[in-house]
Amino acid sequence: MDNRCEQQELIKIIGVLDSLKSDALTIEDANRLLFAPKEVKHLESEGCSKLIIDLVWECCELENIQSLIPDKLESNIIKLKERAIELLKSYNGNDNNMEYPIPTHLKHLLKVDMSKSDSNYLSGSIVCECGCDKFSIQHNENREYDPQISFDEQDGLKVIVNCKECEKEYVLFDESKHGFNGFVNEDCRTASNDSLKELSCKTCGSRFFFVNVGIEAEDKNQFVEECVNEFPERFTAEDYVDSFDWITITLCCANCNESVDWIDLELS
Ligand SMILES: [Zn+2]
Ligand SMILES: [Zn+2]
Repeated sequence: MDNRCEQQELIKIIGVLDSLKSDALTIEDANRLLFAPKEVKHLESEGCSKLIIDLVWECCELENIQSLIPDKLESNIIKLKERAIELLKSYNGNDNNMEYPIPTHLKHLLKVDMSKSDSNYLSGSIVCECGCDKFSIQHNENREYDPQISFDEQDGLKVIVNCKECEKEYVLFDESKHGFNGFVNEDCRTASNDSLKELSCKTCGSRFFFVNVGIEAEDKNQFVEECVNEFPERFTAEDYVDSFDWITITLCCANCNESVDWIDLELS
């Protein structure tokens, strides 16, 4: 779902909440129009921002608030509307035209968190093209450095994720290809998939996680100067997004919600 569609969704939410507040709509009308599990499913399948999906879920709860704690209904409507307006503001101006440094292999996988990203730093969650955001993870995070062989023969960090819903597989990170050391210096070699192990939650043993990625981009001008000008046959200016300098991967267990700062790796 692109920015424009997400803005339109927020405007609809604000309109329905406003209409509820001024009694132009009943809760039943609102549920029929927008605040329904069906709508949440639709937004999920379109790859809509999780922040908006969570908001619609909470709007669905207004019905319960009306029947259980009716004197809290109005304050809840106001709070939800304020949140929708804050979210809508986050799309303003520069954000729509912002050139985020999304690495090529994450273009259709990373849902950018615009409140935490700019042209130098990228933060976002991983969402499958089917809309699911829970993944199992294969990795070689505990690989050992072998002092007998040179650095470009060492296995690089490799992280593969599989969608819980449709089982589609994605390479989330391969140190031999992604980031400055792999992409520019051709350090490391690609670890074989046989050497990867499945990750499970240390607290509850679950295999599924929500995955967040942070990327510190390479400075575009510096990349042009050092790489494109030096090796014009190898690189173009737009390649700077693939030669990023740092990656972090944060996981949240999809079962017990335990959150772990898992990978924190400098790549230049
Ligand atoms: Zn999927
Ligand atoms: Zn867990």
